[in-house]
Order: sequence, then C-alpha cells, then structure tokens
Amino acid sequence: MNTQTIIDCLEAVSEAIIAHETEIENLDREIGDGDHLINVKRGCSVLLEMRNQLAPLSAADAFTAIGTKLLGTIGGASGPLISSFFLAAGKVLKAAPANRPPAFADAFAAGVEAIRSRGKADVGEKTMLDVLIPVARLLSRLSEEGSSLDVLCAKAKDEAQRGMLATKDMIASKGRAYFLGERAIGHIDPGSKTSQVAIWAVCDRLLAVSVQNN
Ligand code: ADP
Ligand code: MG
Repeated sequence: MNTQTIIDCLEAVSEAIIAHETEIENLDREIGDGDHLINVKRGCSVLLEMRNQLAPLSAADAFTAIGTKLLGTIGGASGPLISSFFLAAGKVLKAAPANRPPAFADAFAAGVEAIRSRGKADVGEKTMLDVLIPVARLLSRLSEEGSSLDVLCAKAKDEAQRGMLATKDMIASKGRAYFLGERAIGHIDPGSKTSQVAIWAVCDRLLAVSVQNN
C-alpha cells in the first residue's frame, strides 16, 4: 500500500463516518457518554489537514506520523487505542526489508494486537475488538492463501459486519458500557460500528482504485 492510497483511504473513512454520524452518535449516547463521534471526527479532521505533510513520506512513516498525531488529538478511551494501531502498523512496515514488503495484513494484525494489549480486551467484551480481531485473523489467513483483493475485501466487509452486529447481544466487560451491566444488551457497541464503517470505506476505496488501475 503506498502513501497516496493511505491518504485516499483516510478521505474515504472521513466521508463514511460523516455519512453514519447520527447512528454512531446515538450508539454512544445509548451505552456510552456520547462523545465517541466527536472524538472520531476530530481524529479524521486532523488527519485530513495532514495530507500534504503525509504525501512525501513512506507508508511506514505515514502510519507513524498518523499515530503520533492521533495520540495528542483524539480524546476518550478510543484515542490512545486507535493511535496505537497506527504506531504498531508503522513499525511493522518500517522493519520489513525493502526487497520483501510485508503483506498489508501483517501491518493490520500488528495494529490490532497493539489495541488488544493496550486496552487489555479481547473478543466478546463488546468493544471495537469484536470487529478488528476477527477481521485481522481473516486477512492474515486470506493473504497467506494468496486471495485476490476482491475476495479479501468482500470477506473482510462481511466479517466486520458480523462482528459489529454480534456486539448487540453482549454484556460489556470493558469501557463505559461495563457499568450498564445487562442494560447494554440490545445495543451495538459504538466503537465496533465505527470500525465496521471504516473497514467498509477502506475496502470500497481499495476496490475502486484497483478497478481504475486495471
Ligand atoms: P470513552 O469510552 O472514553 O468515552 P469513546 O467514546 O471515544 O471513549 O470510545 C468508546 C469505544 O471505545 C467503545 O465503544 C469501545 O469500542 C472502545 N473501547 C473502550 N474500552 C476499550 C478497551 N479496553 N479495549 C478496546 N476498545 C475499547
Ligand atoms: Mg464515549
């Protein structure tokens, strides 16, 4: 993935978050404190402002710059978590030998692992990780099998949707929804919704770019 594609994806994610803003805001009002959308939108707007600064960087350095910027900009629980995703993904790309670039799936998996270790959460705790962990596992498997971008994106979108919907019936054991106990049941986790929306936006943008180039 080159830096221009990363910038295209940031734009796609920002647009998709805005397109789903009412839904995301309502979810955090229902089982959080209502600031998740504000946090994510702030992150998106500072990243869009960074586009010119990111453009000349390698993909690895772009991820690191994004992670560093987000650490100081997004508030809430999700800020440091999303920041750690980009910092860890950047590290994997940086460590790769130039003649053997790692699959994007490796960088994604390292990013998700960083969120898991920072948030001390796992699948089934009603957080963004209910989307991110299954998608990371799926991407690693499919990329090892040499799946095409079309297959990868279609399956990642299905898995993200499945993971997001699965949070509806869960009790939260992490984050603010933890304090609601059984009252959290029946509500989708806001961070899982944001993650699904972001993954869909990235997949759709990657597919559009690949159609253009072929
Ligand atoms: P806050 O909870 O501080 O108000 P946000 O509203 O921005 O922060 O983000 C809430 C989202 O963060 C939740 O919906 C959940 O997906 C995610 N989250 C909260 N705690 C954790 C955690 N320990 N690990 C992973 N994700 C978490
Ligand atoms: Mg919140």
